Amino acid sequence: MNEISDAQATEAVETLIRYIEKIDGELREGLDRSPQRVIESYKEIYSGYADDAEEILSATFNSEGYDGIVLLKDVEFHSMCEHHLQPFSGKAHIAYIPVDKIVGISKLARLLDMHSKRLQNQERMTESIVEDLQRVIDPLGCAAVIEAQHGCMRCRGVSKQNAVMVTSSMRGAFFDKSQARSELMQLINK
Ligand code: ZN
Repeated sequence: MNEISDAQATEAVETLIRYIEKIDGELREGLDRSPQRVIESYKEIYSGYADDAEEILSATFNSEGYDGIVLLKDVEFHSMCEHHLQPFSGKAHIAYIPVDKIVGISKLARLLDMHSKRLQNQERMTESIVEDLQRVIDPLGCAAVIEAQHGCMRCRGVSKQNAVMVTSSMRGAFFDKSQARSELMQLINK
């Protein structure tokens, strides 16, 4: 299949707007440029498809003997739920225990962005981040904990405004050793 063009995608959004407003003619003022704006915004919202974990995590440094937990916490993100195309957002905590090499700390945030700027479900996003860390930097342990509020739950369905969904994925030492895991949770909750 050919890739869908910007013009085709813009037309699809226009159809959706006609469907919502129950019209079949020209879009009214205020909406007439919206299809283009939506597609333009998609380029940013879904920019994660263009990125690659190997590339993001490629620049590593010598850990100089540091073998404790490296944690980047409270990193905000915005993503889109694949079931309803509604936003979900919150914060992520990403950690690893280095063996010989460490990654630039901003790279963990970029890895999060790569996964969040795609159509997602929170469970897979959590798992994917940990999988990438495991595969590319092969640490002693790695973990991701994500807390998020889902637009599809706030605006529709059960309409729960304050429910926070928490997911976590632990590998290596964080999975095997309860001491490493409880130290991590203490650092996250501090
Ligand atoms: Zn949803």
